[in-house]
Amino acid sequence: MQVAALFDSHAHLDDPDWPPARLAADLAAAPGWLGTLSAGYGPERFAACRQVCDALPNVWRAVGLHPWWLAQRGPAERAQGWQCVVDELDRHGHRVVAIGELGLDKTRKDQMAASDQLHWMAVALDLARRTGRAVVLHVVGWHGHALDALRAAGGPWQGVVHRFSGSADAAEAYQALGLHLSLALEPRFDADRRARVVRAIAPERLLVESDWPFRDLDYPAALDAVRRMAEELAAARGESGAALLARSNVNFMTLFGLR
Ligand SMILES: [Zn+2]
Repeated sequence: MQVAALFDSHAHLDDPDWPPARLAADLAAAPGWLGTLSAGYGPERFAACRQVCDALPNVWRAVGLHPWWLAQRGPAERAQGWQCVVDELDRHGHRVVAIGELGLDKTRKDQMAASDQLHWMAVALDLARRTGRAVVLHVVGWHGHALDALRAAGGPWQGVVHRFSGSADAAEAYQALGLHLSLALEPRFDADRRARVVRAIAPERLLVESDWPFRDLDYPAALDAVRRMAEELAAARGESGAALLARSNVNFMTLFGLR
């Protein structure tokens, strides 16, 4: 059976549980897989991500310090980590099409105050601006703060709010700033809310993603789950899953400047 071609707009192909050689073999054999953006988490994963990129021409990278990575570390380590991000971009930047993940996570507020999270978000936005790269935003709760920070740093922005979990109103506000919205397998909200949100996203702003790894799915299985999700999202919009995926694929290439 023919499977739908698919770009995965967000995954972590440098996860320590999945050795690069095994992952590269899985991906090379995955039917219909067009490519993936591997989002940044922390510097200790950079080498693994480079290995996957070396093995597969259609993996692109974002580099950054994930809000969860930052929340687990003290001020000195955060600053050192950020220097590693800047160095990685200098030395190995040719497959890096975006800065991120970056953003705010209310569920980590006990480990990292909002003011500190906002500081590192602003630092990462500044790097994206200066280097002409897209942004990969991780925002959980605190969408109002995130929107304020994006406006304060001067829109419009090129980038994506990944695994979007806000309201339909927040979806509209992000799009007004130029951003794309990506919907993931584990949505952080129920089916009704997801249907409302997907209808609030303009066709040229919608992306789909696996945000793999999670549960015990291998990556090809996660890609199949994304295809099934696309069918559900398309039903809520009154269109076909194939049409939705085809447009998400075009949006992916446009967003990250790929041909
Ligand atoms: Zn992620």
